[in-house]
Amino acid sequence: MNQSEALFAEAQKVMPGGVNSPVRAFQRVGGNPIFFKKGKGAYLYDEDDREFVDYVGSWGPMILGHAHPQVISSIKAAADNGLSFGAPTAIETELAKKICSIMPSIEMIRMVNSGTEATMSAIRIARGFTGRDKIVKFEGCYHGHSDSLLVKAGSGALTLGEPDSLGVPSSFAEKTLTLEYNNPDQVREVFSQAGDEIAGIIVEPVAGNMSCIPPEKGFLECLREVCDEYGALLIFDEVMTGFRVALGGAQSLYGIQPDLTTLGKVMGGGMPVGAFGGRRDIMHSVAPLGAVYQAGTLSGNPIAMTAGLETLKLIEAPGFFETISENTQSLMASLQSLADSAGIPFTTNQVGGMFGFFFSDTDRMTNFSQVMSSDTGAFVTFFNTMLEQGISLAPSPFESGFVSAAHGQTEFSKTEAAAKSAFEALQQGV
Ligand SMILES: *Cc1c(COP(=O)(O)O)cnc(C)c1O
Repeated sequence: MNQSEALFAEAQKVMPGGVNSPVRAFQRVGGNPIFFKKGKGAYLYDEDDREFVDYVGSWGPMILGHAHPQVISSIKAAADNGLSFGAPTAIETELAKKICSIMPSIEMIRMVNSGTEATMSAIRIARGFTGRDKIVKFEGCYHGHSDSLLVKAGSGALTLGEPDSLGVPSSFAEKTLTLEYNNPDQVREVFSQAGDEIAGIIVEPVAGNMSCIPPEKGFLECLREVCDEYGALLIFDEVMTGFRVALGGAQSLYGIQPDLTTLGKVMGGGMPVGAFGGRRDIMHSVAPLGAVYQAGTLSGNPIAMTAGLETLKLIEAPGFFETISENTQSLMASLQSLADSAGIPFTTNQVGGMFGFFFSDTDRMTNFSQVMSSDTGAFVTFFNTMLEQGISLAPSPFESGFVSAAHGQTEFSKTEAAAKSAFEALQQGV
């Protein structure tokens, strides 16, 4: 038994599934999850001292690579001054100003501790501000695990949503309509029937939780139009895409201004951070200015704010996103040509430093049902063959991959060599 196996056995005695977030348990890919003890740049090191090129990046935050020296030294210095005061600090305002300047649609912002908290609060604001209860979301998008958002589609677009977890009251789920991603006609239809009951639309402007699915031309534009027409709020959940697909997030890339934006992941530089923000008049409805209640004992934590601010300062460097985007694109091109040579049906998506790959003969993956019909068995073989060769991909075909600024030619060459043998394994039906 190796160290990870021994540690997993112990973990399972005291934590459900041995983990603190389900996907970490490796259930979709079989085998034992790997316990890591250290990260540096593009690499992770496990408890058995094996080295992995990491494309998970803690599910997105680590855009600078692991343990970036400037981020680490800044949080060490901040820690010397104490970990938490539960009172205002200068660093919160500094980070808030930085984010408002990078994302002009955010005129005011509030810091929270996770993406889940950010989206949950944004939904409450949309409801409080509009005086309406219904929310529209899209199949395959993930917005954290709050009750209103753990909802799947009913039998038809216009039927009531159903809980996507035990413990979510159906009376909550009924308020959430789940539509098909990249299907503007369906959005128009739903609004034409129930537009005056809808508080807002929440969407991942590039979907990153059904692997990576970019918006088709006209989709985000349609969302903006119907929200304007019916007085609903457009919420871009940029927890994953903010500071990842471009410095200014998907909203800068596609030129659409949401009313509210939720953030997390990169903005905390690896610390537990989230935020929501947007139009000043809407944010005025948040307590203590307004009557929409929201609070947090550790919100705006000085260590977390420091890690976030330091990260944003580093990724603002000219050319940062051009490089990460080109690197990610060329990695996907290499994987595609290796798959083509091996005769494996395969397709990829990429936006900025975010990617998805699919074992499918569909040319363009645009929605959840296409992703669901891809060959997940082939994914499992590919994943495990890559892992054996020291390449760590997300342990699920429904997650995005991430390239960091620390990934360079050495790491891409290792990845390509491993992928060549993984595609060959698939070709031979291993
Ligand atoms: C990760 C994620 C969340 C949830 O964030 P947590 O910090 O895990 O609570 C919400 N929305 C999107 C788009 C995400 O990718």
